[in-house]
This record gives sequence, structure tokens and C-alpha cells, in this order.
Amino acid sequence: RAKMEARSAFRFFEPEMDAAMQKRRTIEAGLRQALERDEMRLVFQPLVGLAENRVTCFEALLRWELDGQIISPADFVPIAEETGLIVSIGEWVLRRACAVAAGWPEDVRVAVNLSPVQFKNRGLFDIVQSALAASGLSPRRLELEITESLLLAENDQTLETLHRLRAEGVRISMDDFGTGYSSLSYLRSFPFDKIKIDRSFMRDLSKTGGDLAIIKAVIGLGQSLGMSTTAEGVETQEQLDAVREQGCSEVQGFLFSPPLPEGAVAAFLSGQADEETLRAAS
Ligand code: C2E
Ligand code: MG
Ligand code: MG
Ligand code: MG
Repeated sequence: RAKMEARSAFRFFEPEMDAAMQKRRTIEAGLRQALERDEMRLVFQPLVGLAENRVTCFEALLRWELDGQIISPADFVPIAEETGLIVSIGEWVLRRACAVAAGWPEDVRVAVNLSPVQFKNRGLFDIVQSALAASGLSPRRLELEITESLLLAENDQTLETLHRLRAEGVRISMDDFGTGYSSLSYLRSFPFDKIKIDRSFMRDLSKTGGDLAIIKAVIGLGQSLGMSTTAEGVETQEQLDAVREQGCSEVQGFLFSPPLPEGAVAAFLSGQADEETLRAAS
């Protein structure tokens, strides 16, 4: 025990450790001011409906623009969650995403990622309602993406909030399906509208039969539960062909488009990029 403490004390003062902690502290301090300094941005990645043969939705993805550099959510969302800052940042995301989407065609929805931490705050339902009311966006045009880790901390209050949101017409998607510990049992605990199959299953789709068998099974599961399925991380025509053949409802990935800046969405929908999307999907 004493030995372990000595070792961890030693590690604490190692230079790399110090640098990592310094970096973390800098991010934490910066995050506290990021909203008031107007440094948060949303980018939007299209989801293409395969039956509709068009863009049905855009997922809002958060970026932090700090001193001209773009920081990825993987680098700051976990810290924002630990510090609780994700509550105010997440509210900003909701309001901004709804406001932007209100300017899109009526048949295009917006998807927003929610952190489990936002559910611990009692006010989530009211925040969503207020974001919808302020923007004039119909609840039917909003999708909320949650991960399995949310339901890990499953309690009545979380489920009640989800049910209330759904009763308003908001769609609830399970994000990154297949990466958590008990994906299947979560499908039993809540009637999700959509299952998003994690992109790790897309990676070797052309090489191995295993991932294809899993994707096939998840799509079948979705169909029998009345949930639509989205394949994340579709990068190649081969992957698209494979998931389409299995009856996947929707696809998202670099094959169609990377996440786009807010101002590029309208052009994407009406312009040449859209024709490319449809060509890729056909
Ligand atoms: P996610 O919700 O699963 O989002 C999909 C991620 O996959 C995005 O990464 C997207 O850029 C990336 N992606 C899309 N298509 C492809 C592809 O074809 N190939 C590859 N390699 N990647 C692709 P991003 O934007 O870096 O976001 C990472 C994660 O950060 C998100 O995963 C989500 O969990 C989280 N996140 C992003 N925005 C928010 C937010 O506003 N709130 C919260 N709580 N989390 C967020
Ligand atoms: Mg997502
Ligand atoms: Mg995802
Ligand atoms: Mg994912």
C-alpha cells in the first residue's frame, strides 16, 4: 500500500504527467469561458434515408474554436461532463441546433447528442421544450441521441423524461449501438425510434463475414421492434451496398459528406453536392 502510494506520488511529478495535467487544467479553464466568448460551433452531418433517397436529417456535432484551432468533442466533452459544464454547453447546443434547423425544409430533421449528465439535471424536459418554442421548430423535427451509458445509470426519472419527450413527438435514438455492455437489454427498457449502429462495425464490412452478420441481425432486430436503423461511418460504396442490401433505413458517413459548417447546409441540400449524395445512394 505504502509502496503504491510512493509510486503514484512519483508518477504525479513525472514531467509528462505534469504536462497532461497542465493541458487538462487549461482546457477546463478555457471551457468555463467558451460560451461567453462565443467559441462553440456546430457542424452538421447529413443522414441519408435509403427509402426516401434524400437527406432526412442532419446530426449536430459540437466543435470548440480556440485561438483559431478546432478542438474535437472527444477532447473536451469528457472534461465538460466531469465538471458539469456540459449542462450549459448542452443547452446551448440544443437551442442553437433547433434555431438553425428551423430554417431548413420541413422534411429535414435535426439530431442532437445528449450527455447522461444532462439527464441528471431535472430541467432537461423544460430546456428541450423551451428550445423548441424559441425556435418554432416542430418537436417532430427533433431527434435526441443518447448512448447506452445513459441507461447504465438508469432510473425512473431518466425514463420518465424520455417518455415525456417522446410523447411530445421528439424522436429518441440509441447512438453507437453495439459498443456498450448490455445493448440488447436497453432495447427492452425503452421504445427507441432509431438504432444507430456504431461505425466500428462498418470498418471491416468488406473483409469479414462477422460484422456483416451482426449488422444483419441488428437491422432485423430493429425491424421486429419497430425501430429504424442507421449505419454510422459509411465511407465506401461497398459498405453502402452491404447495409442497403440488409434493409438498413438510413446511412451517415464520409461517403456522403463530412460534417458541414452551418452556412453550407442549404447549399448542400439544393446544390450539386446533393446530386452526388443521391447518386452515391442509388
Ligand atoms: P457520435 O454521436 O457517434 O457522432 C458521430 C461521429 O463520427 C462524429 O465525430 C462524426 O464526425 C464521425 N463520423 C461521421 N462519419 C464518419 C465516417 O464516415 N468515418 C469516420 N471515421 N468518422 C465519421 P465527432 O464530430 O468527432 O464527434 C465525436 C463524438 O462526440 C460524437 O459521436 C458524440 O458522442 C460526441 N459529441 C459530438 N457533439 C456532441 C454534443 O453536442 N454533445 C455531446 N454530449 N456529445 C457530442
Ligand atoms: Mg451521435
Ligand atoms: Mg454515433
Ligand atoms: Mg459513434
